[in-house]
Amino acid sequence: MTVQYPKKLPMHIDGEWLEAGSRDTHAVINPATGETIAELPLATKDDLDRALDASERGFAEWRARDVNERGAILRKVAENLRERAKDIAPLLTMEQGKPLREAMGEILGSAGLFEWFAEEAKRSYGRVLVRPPGQRSVVLGQPVGPVAAFSPWNFPLFLMARKLAPALAAGCSIICKPPEETPACAVALMQCVIDAGVPGNAAQLVFGVPDIVSSHLIASPIIRKVSFTGSVPVGKHLIKLCADTVKRHTMELGGHAPVLIFDDCDLDRTLDIIQPQKFRNAGQVCVSPTRFYVQSGIYDQFVEEFTKRTEAMQVGSGLDDASQMGPLANIRRPDAIDQLVSDARDKGARVTTGGKRMGNEGFFFRPTVLADVPLEAQIMNNEPFGPVAMMRPFDTFDEAIEQANRLPFGLAAFAFTENGRQANRLGDMIEAGMVGINTVGISGVDTPFGGMKQSGYGSEDAIEGLEAYLVTKAVHQA
Ligand code: NAD
Repeated sequence: MTVQYPKKLPMHIDGEWLEAGSRDTHAVINPATGETIAELPLATKDDLDRALDASERGFAEWRARDVNERGAILRKVAENLRERAKDIAPLLTMEQGKPLREAMGEILGSAGLFEWFAEEAKRSYGRVLVRPPGQRSVVLGQPVGPVAAFSPWNFPLFLMARKLAPALAAGCSIICKPPEETPACAVALMQCVIDAGVPGNAAQLVFGVPDIVSSHLIASPIIRKVSFTGSVPVGKHLIKLCADTVKRHTMELGGHAPVLIFDDCDLDRTLDIIQPQKFRNAGQVCVSPTRFYVQSGIYDQFVEEFTKRTEAMQVGSGLDDASQMGPLANIRRPDAIDQLVSDARDKGARVTTGGKRMGNEGFFFRPTVLADVPLEAQIMNNEPFGPVAMMRPFDTFDEAIEQANRLPFGLAAFAFTENGRQANRLGDMIEAGMVGINTVGISGVDTPFGGMKQSGYGSEDAIEGLEAYLVTKAVHQA
């Protein structure tokens, strides 16, 4: 398949599409080949100041629009995305690596977000308090103000949409800073937004050196809300920056999802569900199942069958229809995975399949299964964010819960059991923002998505996703 990847990728500031000109640039690399495919402009401080000024004007203009009109425009964004999905998907695959059908799913899922928030915008109800006759006290949910949104490269279109759609639905203006590694789908999404009728100063797009952009935008009094999806260390850094101007923020940080597999599970069904899920997007998913704790009675059988299915996977360019898994998204990832796997092996883990890079070009890593992984291995403590499943046996329910809750993260967790009472207890006792029991379907437009502990705070999607862009005000009248 030949894909025409755009050679020039613009930012969108104050309604103007801006190419590199004399600005510094960043090379965009195809992770399947390692080749440079485009140059991306990096915002200067003047660009950022212009975007800030525009976002203040954009907020005044956009919040004044009737909520039904805002909703209609967001529905049009969804239509644009659906119409253009076939053209955008190959760009996403080429810059990020994931198989084409996953890229299509990501775009259609993003359209679903715009549809949900187009409707939800009308339901940002306040409430009326009981007061003596002649008096009124009302509680209002008002748009918080201009937003700075930082999204990562693993779902570059969906995770930008997850901030853009609710912010616009609430009546906020927004400056998006998507990742520099995967810019073309971000440009395509912004084009869908602008073509739908959102004013060019209410929705803006900048690229840049991440720390320069985030420190500049977050320090500005114009920005009233920060939303970040990414790693725990960067999240902590941004929380500190937010403290200086007491800015509201939503933090979707990393996880290290435990998977508790009990002797009484339906083994074939469990494998059918969990094995492909592990290697979706080459494991570069914040809710990816990572730490597999398998009850002793079925441990050997589970490891063997999971390994057999993993060995049979087709790995190759995401543009190739046969590929079930593409390359890792950037040059940092194979190095990081290599280091974690070597450390685990040195500490006694058994590599039952994979464990090394693939081919001479691009950033491919073989789907990997590690068995009998000691708890002190780095990979059992640091999020791998790659195509590695780590397995350990356990004996009792209490031991499984202790392991599931052992780390300072709490984003997603999964469990497989046919015992209803045990399932209820798991739902109650696992410390994670999202728990899937006999399912990996933990995310949806109507479902709050967010973590506990160091995985962050605040929810995206659902009713909570809109509330994140509203500020509460009580007005009393006598
Ligand atoms: P990283 O920590 O350097 O960056 C993570 C993300 O934050 C990237 O998108 C990056 O562009 C952005 N970023 C980095 N510094 C920033 C700053 N000062 N201001 C604003 N944004 C900034 O790591 P990486 O090598 O890009 O990714 C690897 C790790 O990131 C993974 O191990 C994983 O834990 C985490 N990650 C998590 C998610 C998620 O969905 N929660 C997504 C991508 C990456």
